[in-house]
Amino acid sequence: ESKEKVCLIGSGNWGSAIAKIVGRNVTKHDNYDSEVRMWVYEEIVNGQRLTDLINTQHENVKYLPNVKLPENVVAVPDLLQTVEDATLLVFVIPHQFVKGVCEQLKGKLHSDARAISLIKGVDVSKGGIHLISDLIKENLDIDVSVLMGANIASEVAMENFCESTIGCTNMKNGEAFHKALHSPYFRVAIVDDVAGVELCGALKNVIAIGAGIVDGLKMGENTKAAIIRIGIMEMKKFSQTFYKGVKDETYMESCGVADVITTCFGGRNRRVAEAHVVTGKSFETLEKEMLNGQKLQGTLTAKEVNEILKGRNMVNDFPFFTAVYRVCYEGLPAQELVDNI
Ligand code: NAD
Ligand code: 13P
Ligand code: CA
Repeated sequence: ESKEKVCLIGSGNWGSAIAKIVGRNVTKHDNYDSEVRMWVYEEIVNGQRLTDLINTQHENVKYLPNVKLPENVVAVPDLLQTVEDATLLVFVIPHQFVKGVCEQLKGKLHSDARAISLIKGVDVSKGGIHLISDLIKENLDIDVSVLMGANIASEVAMENFCESTIGCTNMKNGEAFHKALHSPYFRVAIVDDVAGVELCGALKNVIAIGAGIVDGLKMGENTKAAIIRIGIMEMKKFSQTFYKGVKDETYMESCGVADVITTCFGGRNRRVAEAHVVTGKSFETLEKEMLNGQKLQGTLTAKEVNEILKGRNMVNDFPFFTAVYRVCYEGLPAQELVDNI
């Protein structure tokens, strides 16, 4: 039997935390190649190439500082060299870059390649909604699973116990990725609901923006809990409206309510939304000022969700998602968020 070879497409905050887990796991299974290539979108950090820094210091000094990566994780600046011979591809880049990356990978993958997407977001094109996993699947003609969960990268990197959820259609592929990702401190469950898992991951970022807004307004914990509850209801309604097979049970997995909670308390989307209310600065400015190259997904997702809802004449059926969108993009005063839901 030929060996599995895992590669990582992406090396940001989450990509680097996942590299630590995958790098260790592949050495534990005989049928996994022990080298893990990690694609790095090359940049210069303190006068040196980030890939060189990672390969000499075994640390992503920019996106996940102070965390050692296993030495069998190799940073590669060339995308095609990263995927060469890889049978298991882990996609972990901000969702706005997926199309460009897929374009470059078309026709270049190993014949046995399968993918998993850790990317939280949706795609809107030709007026319709598409899962990021479907975008990868259709562009590259491969099976795509997803992994989403209550997983703030820095906490996972410290090996604090948490859970996550794989959604897959092909159980053999789901299990192959489970071997690479599951660990005693990162406990991964498998469910057969790709759309349910993925849409939870994407939509919770919009809820987190709402939570950050009410934090900025200093309205207290009851208000925030209400925002979270209303947000979860719209998340459920949205995913079950657009994807008929989405299961109720999925919301009780780590990818569901648990991820909403962690992101609404500890995430970047929450933090930046709070700062937007407190300082009055734009989200774009704050992303640059506060995140050191990391990317915000929630505002863009709010916009994409709004585009879908407008196209279907459904904005009034999702007052919370709509109000978050209007605060982010139409200058609706933050104080009016609760009046609109
Ligand atoms: P990040 O936001 O920390 O970093 C941004 C990354 O994008 C960097 O690696 C940067 O080099 C890269 N980049 C910049 N311009 C690019 C371009 N033009 N093309 C390709 N790449 C480019 O990244 P992250 O936190 O690893 O996020 C990846 C995905 O993981 C997102 O969908 C995010 O929602 C999700 N996620 C993040 C966390 C977390 O705690 N950080 C947890 C779970 C899921
Ligand atoms: P933020 O992007 O808001 O930090 O959320 C991270 C996350 O997805 C936690 O599971
Ligand atoms: Ca499509």
